[in-house]
Amino acid sequence: MASDEDCDYLFKTILVGDSAVGKSNLLSRFAKDEFHLDSKPTIGVEFAYRNTKVGDKIVKAQIWDTAGQESFGSLTFSSDDRFRAITSSYYRGAQGAMLVYDITRNGTFEHLKKWLTELREFGDRDMVIVLVGNKSDLVDLREVDTEDGKKLAELENLCFMETSAKENLNVEDAFVEMITKIYEIAA
Ligand code: GDP
Ligand code: MG
Repeated sequence: MASDEDCDYLFKTILVGDSAVGKSNLLSRFAKDEFHLDSKPTIGVEFAYRNTKVGDKIVKAQIWDTAGQESFGSLTFSSDDRFRAITSSYYRGAQGAMLVYDITRNGTFEHLKKWLTELREFGDRDMVIVLVGNKSDLVDLREVDTEDGKKLAELENLCFMETSAKENLNVEDAFVEMITKIYEIAA
């Protein structure tokens, strides 16, 4: 556990979205400037930290990452209670969420509604949500238009950005936007 003595604020943020959209690589790009072409599926819950300067303050973001099945709801748990316990501990206290889809897979975009329902059910009401269309480097494989991402974000009142964890495009901006918005609300 990193100490919070070297920062002015500590924010909990989470990554959500279908599996293989690039959540873990966005996190490793932001936290360690690393990208892995053959990254393994995340098992359980992992997290990483990174300090960011907002104005003259140092904000430490604790960023949670998980297996990211189609939704937590699709995991098979022995009982509904167990599912709710795990899901709510992931969301508990999260001040920001990065909701990620893959611009080359329309299905991951269509599932966003379900993710938003879950975020609103389990998350805090004033949670900052940044919608991220990842893999923008794969121009020839694009299935989701930038406009569609933008429209959904406007409709749902979210920030929006397209990123490439691979080419390191907008990754820093997306996280910093989320962290800055949280700072404006929480600090
Ligand atoms: P997660 O299941 O959402 O955590 O997804 P991962 O981070 O494990 O990534 C799934 C796959 O997509 C891996 O093979 C990554 O190398 C690849 N990937 C992730 N981000 C990008 C990206 O921005 N561009 C490209 N081309 N591939 C990516
Ligand atoms: Mg992962």
